[in-house]
Amino acid sequence: MTKFNGMLHIQVFVFNPFQENTYILYDETNECVVVDPGCYEEDEKIELADFIEANNLTVTRLLNTHCHIDHVLGNAFVKEKYKTKLYIHRNDEPVLRAVSAYAPNYGFNLYQETAPDVFLEEGDVINVGNQEFEVLFVPGHAPGHVAFYNKKEKVVIGGDVLFQNSIGRTDLPGGNLDTLINSIHQKLFTLPDDITVYPGHGPKTTIGFEKLTNPYCALTTN
Ligand SMILES: [Zn+2]
Ligand SMILES: [Zn+2]
Repeated sequence: MTKFNGMLHIQVFVFNPFQENTYILYDETNECVVVDPGCYEEDEKIELADFIEANNLTVTRLLNTHCHIDHVLGNAFVKEKYKTKLYIHRNDEPVLRAVSAYAPNYGFNLYQETAPDVFLEEGDVINVGNQEFEVLFVPGHAPGHVAFYNKKEKVVIGGDVLFQNSIGRTDLPGGNLDTLINSIHQKLFTLPDDITVYPGHGPKTTIGFEKLTNPYCALTTN
């Protein structure tokens, strides 16, 4: 389904057995970025490529919110097909490098490793056509987790930090519950209530709704 927010279009695909949300963000210029391509099976790659072709989009960047296996399975495919650079936070480079060692344990024997090209920093601005996304550093689920915040269109592409009435797990290497709760309170709950959160799994939600109803976010580290 395509989501229209002003001139920003947000296309979501649900890929791989982890039911991961892959996003294509684009606007009227037809420039797009691919965020967290989880496509692994051939039909998933075709679905992604067909959408890009049908909408006459030009892929300018490949972005990862973080580098767990479910979010990076399609990195090599996107990078090679569209000759684009991979942007991640430096702190998730070890997370990305670890994937090829454990991919076979999850049955992903054909996972292809790719190196990052550009490191993202808190406060960086990613342009997608006429749209601007600010990089928020939100570690805790992964050590180099980032989110992409579009103030004007009131959306944040949040990865696995904050879900509808849940939060990201913190038991994986580099995860930390206090750090995650701090990221949510300091970086996400300080955004306006009407910001829509597009998470790495499950349905979208809003900052205001999660502040009121998320059972995990009553937790503080103080
Ligand atoms: Zn994750
Ligand atoms: Zn995930």
